[in-house]
Amino acid sequence: MGTVSEYFGSLVFDDRVMKANLSAKVYKSLKKTIDEGAKLDISVANAVATAMKDWAIANGATHYTHWFQPLTGITAEKHDSFITPSPDGGVIMEFSGKELIKGEPDASSFPSGGLRATFEARGYTAWDPTSYAFIKGKTLCIPTAFCSYGGEALDKKTTLLRSMEALNKQAIRILRLFGNDNVKCVRTSVGPEQEYFLVDKAIYEKRRDLIFTGRTLFGAKPPKGQEMDDHYFGVIKPRVEAYMQELNEELWKLGILAKTEHNEVAPAQHELAPIYTTTNIATDHNQITMEIMQKVAAKHGLVCLLHEKPFAGVNGSGKHNNWSISTDAGVNLLSPGETPYENAQFLLFLCAVIKAVDDYQDLLRISVATAGNDHRLGANEAPPAVVSIFLGDELNAVLEAIETDTPYMGIEKTKMKLGVDVLPEFNRDTTDRNRTSPFAFTGNKFEFRMLGSSNSIACANIMLNSAVAESLKIYADRLEKADDFETALHEMIRKTIKDHKRIIFNGNGYDDAWIKEATEERGLLNYRTTPDCMPHLLDKKNVDMLTSQKVFSEAELKSRCDIMLDNYCKQVKIEADTMVQMARTEIAPAVEAYVMELSKAAGYKKKLDESISCNYEKELVRKLSVLIESISSKAYELEQALMSLSSAEDVISESYAIRDNVLVKMSELRDFCDEAEVLTAKKYWPFPTYDDLLFGVR
Ligand code: ADP
Ligand code: MG
Repeated sequence: MGTVSEYFGSLVFDDRVMKANLSAKVYKSLKKTIDEGAKLDISVANAVATAMKDWAIANGATHYTHWFQPLTGITAEKHDSFITPSPDGGVIMEFSGKELIKGEPDASSFPSGGLRATFEARGYTAWDPTSYAFIKGKTLCIPTAFCSYGGEALDKKTTLLRSMEALNKQAIRILRLFGNDNVKCVRTSVGPEQEYFLVDKAIYEKRRDLIFTGRTLFGAKPPKGQEMDDHYFGVIKPRVEAYMQELNEELWKLGILAKTEHNEVAPAQHELAPIYTTTNIATDHNQITMEIMQKVAAKHGLVCLLHEKPFAGVNGSGKHNNWSISTDAGVNLLSPGETPYENAQFLLFLCAVIKAVDDYQDLLRISVATAGNDHRLGANEAPPAVVSIFLGDELNAVLEAIETDTPYMGIEKTKMKLGVDVLPEFNRDTTDRNRTSPFAFTGNKFEFRMLGSSNSIACANIMLNSAVAESLKIYADRLEKADDFETALHEMIRKTIKDHKRIIFNGNGYDDAWIKEATEERGLLNYRTTPDCMPHLLDKKNVDMLTSQKVFSEAELKSRCDIMLDNYCKQVKIEADTMVQMARTEIAPAVEAYVMELSKAAGYKKKLDESISCNYEKELVRKLSVLIESISSKAYELEQALMSLSSAEDVISESYAIRDNVLVKMSELRDFCDEAEVLTAKKYWPFPTYDDLLFGVR
């Protein structure tokens, strides 16, 4: 296969391929579209399509697809082959500019949350030339946006691109105020760290809960969990090593900058992090990464679990969204500079983020809300459902000094008056407290840690970009009118710190005392579940901001709220159904069989010798019989709870009924089953247990 630098990006129609295969004129014109959003001429599109097709065929492709990200969270594709019949009975391979630019998938089965009824029946996909086309198997995949004919976004990419544009526009206004006239564009970059579990495929296949829902719905705690902390950064097992190696190779061929990999905290848990890149591309890449992770696992007799909480009582999996803002010249706006002026600019961007996170805590929480992630947020090992920002002691001291107009102790002579002082370089504060924060400043970027491992990172970045764009807009509106720029700037930074310092928390985020302080004293939001937060997407302040930033229309927001809640309900209903079935057809019969064996044993013993007490059998039979009764009646109650959902008036009330009733019954049923598991002989238990799953890959 050659060296990594030889095959890196070999399946990507990237800049190198374009340069080599397009005429200078076409290349230049395409670059203008990619870099500056210039309109694409059809003759250019035709030339690009032909070059793309020839390159794809030379690399083994026979089909092409418009690859897009509908609101389900996964990616979708519909394959068309390049073949066109020729008059002599053969075929020729064709692909036109028109086919490259626009596609018309039959959209009727993608969720649109009522959008399609209001607008047009069908949607179309439109090429996103800023994200390179690539080959997957025998198919050329063309990254596209997916919209209705009325222009409503039916996908995540469209709104993500809009949010990047919103932030670009406002950030440029700010940079101009600082006299920065050369910057052409401001982009956000993301490096998402992806956590996952690997389990043995043969073991996985014996568990219907894993197959249907991606997580275990039953399972007693194994004697050994993660308490020894011996897995984190531990030696990687040969089978996992082989998996990671092939995964890297596949990702590298696709031009994905997979960089680090290590074991995570829980047994069988691992992490993969790519080198950061433009948000839009990072999002596409993360979607592809999740798909390839699962495909490669299958080749190694493994299954890659991307669920947020595959195992109760064991760390769940998240995704850390490392986010920064930078100019086209590569200047990171979240990095303190060398001159006082650059530092004032840094502080302003920092304040914009602080204000955004405080003003739109709810949107950030909403952006990561799924049934799976509800099990993780606030469950001791993941960030709480309360959003707060960690800045670290050093930066915190700087902000305090500005707020109170007192000298900053870290640097002599320093009074934080802008235009006078120099800021220190902020190293990343690596204390444990940092790790527990949902939103931490890590030196020159923010790390948003509430995302679930299976989430598309699009949603979180859409909300983050939009909210920060809104802060910057408010700042720019004010500063553009100011008579004395420096004084106005200083005042505004101070005011932001004063108004929004409640969102800054540098302590231990896992501590119960923090949740109490956050909600009772600071008035921060604590939306524990998806039904708690999702309806707030439609709160006036959120609709106003997102529509005025031109990221969503009101109809698009309504559709998102609907779809997310609908997903939530469907997912839990599948889980509940699976539980009822497993309890009835697997667990209860298994326990019953064991009870039979115990009873028989007691009978034999008594026959043999009347004086044997058989207390062991009697006691166990009694306990297990009570448990079988409880399991049976709980399964019935759960089934009833599920049935009563059909009377819910709308998806919001259905989601409340699920939260308050179905999930409660599920947990009660599980408790009885888990109790039975530890009393039942292992050979009777109908499926592999937590030890088999967590320690099954050797
Ligand atoms: P860790 O958080 O595990 O200590 P790093 O902080 O080095 O590791 O990087 C984690 C992720 O953050 C990587 O994907 C990395 O590429 C990304 N990252 C680093 N710098 C930036 C930046 N300026 N903007 C966005 N992402 C970044
Ligand atoms: Mg990290």
